[in-house]
Amino acid sequence: MNRLLCIGECMIEFAPAEGGLFAKGYAGDTFNTAWYAARTGGETVDVSYLTAVGDDPVSDSMLDFMSTSGVRPIAARRAGGTVGLYLISLRDGERSFSYWRSASAARTLADDLEALPDLAPGDIAYFSGITLAILPPGSRARLLSVLAAARAKGIRVAFDPNLRPRLWPDTETMCTAIAEGARVADIALPSFEDEADHFGDGSPEATAERYARAGASVVAVKNGPGDMLLREGTRTSTLQPTAVSEVVDTTAAGDSFNAAFLVGLLNGEQAAEAADAGARLAARVIGARGALVEL
Ligand code: ADP
Repeated sequence: MNRLLCIGECMIEFAPAEGGLFAKGYAGDTFNTAWYAARTGGETVDVSYLTAVGDDPVSDSMLDFMSTSGVRPIAARRAGGTVGLYLISLRDGERSFSYWRSASAARTLADDLEALPDLAPGDIAYFSGITLAILPPGSRARLLSVLAAARAKGIRVAFDPNLRPRLWPDTETMCTAIAEGARVADIALPSFEDEADHFGDGSPEATAERYARAGASVVAVKNGPGDMLLREGTRTSTLQPTAVSEVVDTTAAGDSFNAAFLVGLLNGEQAAEAADAGARLAARVIGARGALVEL
């Protein structure tokens, strides 16, 4: 069975529910991708999640949630540690997010990482700009060198830059780290709007070109409701996203796209076919509320 290893931070989610109560859930960009990959590819792809958690009951419940979702946790346990948390506030129908993640054990996920576990040539290791953002600089360098070593053995490394300026000390540090991430990636999954904002790309072609120059052989440039751009080697093509009659909540649009896209590649599909599956899944996800939408 082909393997997809997602790397990053899963958090506790508190989402507003009836009567001033909050519903507890679990989410986080790379975890959302793992969750959707298990949902859409669980029969053909072994999906695991590399992270670090604490040794408290809420860390246990998070790992139980992963296992029952079909995502195999590969989690270092940090004594006295715990997981990160975010809370969604609703004001006039608009959602805003507050985070408590500075003490999250996930920030230590690469501290003692020697190599990526259980992967063989052709398997995919997936990480994001958020994975890089939460790590202290030394651990970030360690993760990147472990990914580069895996890539040298034929493991395909996939990277979603997922630019989040709020998680970085400044834009320059963010852009430098994202460029370092891009240099270890075979498969790049940027979103055009973010890349244009922070790297000054004038078109999705320019975004694809930048990631291809950094070394990616496959680049899928997502573009919200606009056409996606696929670049394989030097060939480019465009793909229309699936039409959505009512966009309810775009949370995890990109994460779910990545899941179906990577599952497609692992199943031997051409990039265009895999991207089409990604767009179809993202269309369903944005038609309902929440990061993890039961399909
Ligand atoms: P991210 O969530 O990473 O910012 P995008 O907003 O570019 O990524 O969306 C990822 C994918 O989700 C798009 O490539 C597209 O397939 C789908 N998508 C997002 N917004 C829409 C929309 N309004 N209508 C149809 N598809 C959409």
